[in-house]
Amino acid sequence: MIETFLLSLLQPFATLASGIGNQKKLLIMIYHRVLDEPDFMRPGEVDKAAFTWQMQLLAKHFNVLPLAEALERMQNNTLPPRAVCITFDDGYADNYTNALPILQRFDLKATFFIASGFLDGGRMWNDTVIEAVRNITTASLDLNKAGLGVFETSTHSQKCQSAQEIIKKIKHLDLSERTRYVEVIAAKSQDLPNDLMLTSEQLKELHQSGMEIGGHTVNHPILAKLDETTSKREIKENKIFLEELLGVTLQFFAYPNGKPEIDYLRQHAEWVKQAGFSAAVSTQWGVATKDSSLMELPRFTPWDGEPLKFMLRIIMLSAKF
Ligand SMILES: [Zn+2]
Repeated sequence: MIETFLLSLLQPFATLASGIGNQKKLLIMIYHRVLDEPDFMRPGEVDKAAFTWQMQLLAKHFNVLPLAEALERMQNNTLPPRAVCITFDDGYADNYTNALPILQRFDLKATFFIASGFLDGGRMWNDTVIEAVRNITTASLDLNKAGLGVFETSTHSQKCQSAQEIIKKIKHLDLSERTRYVEVIAAKSQDLPNDLMLTSEQLKELHQSGMEIGGHTVNHPILAKLDETTSKREIKENKIFLEELLGVTLQFFAYPNGKPEIDYLRQHAEWVKQAGFSAAVSTQWGVATKDSSLMELPRFTPWDGEPLKFMLRIIMLSAKF
């Protein structure tokens, strides 16, 4: 097996990472989806095969901890070397159908941050764009009337690039304006999927399987764009809804999109704390230490397509911070 061979090559790197890990660093990884197989429209997402070798590698060479235990041990200075947490944002159905069995196979725990407004048949706006562009049968998508321009859609790579360009153009617009654009794009396509996100039942089973569930707002807004009342409502209502559904108290929160000063502001961290969360994660690149703010813990996205690079990336990141 090529994977086994590659993993054996990684042993020296794991030893190196061990030395770095003595500095009591915590690497919190972000995933969104675990696809059935590679998807040309979503090159940044892992599929089951890649997620399997990544989890196998983490289970073998790292100390994967549940987030609650890792943060407690970080505070107590008892973090083991090579400490890693696995997190998922948004609440995709494949977190249950694909990620859960693989996590269970390697006896790993993860935290899933759920945007509760999309459970049971919802679809996030960026997925509407991606799926609509996927379905386009013409050589280009003319959004001139909407003021966005014309996008090439002949090939798979053009479709992927066009969808990402559209997402980038409209991501930070006001909600009503963005929604208007998304509706125009959605109208160009039929058969948009309604099964991308978790059902409430799947989420309950995910939780009952020993996985941690965290808050991620109701509608996944860019909090920095909202007024205080709406921000607090998004944070609080998501927490209350998930706590009633699951019968637990939510401890952890992830900021939607997650870039400090762009997607959320300093006051949001305060409001998340006031809502009763004990820690929160951003998408700021980095490694958490005892000195990190518990309400703004950095994370890291693994994107490398093969084990050696994946491992080196983790080691280099640990060394950098
Ligand atoms: Zn998110």
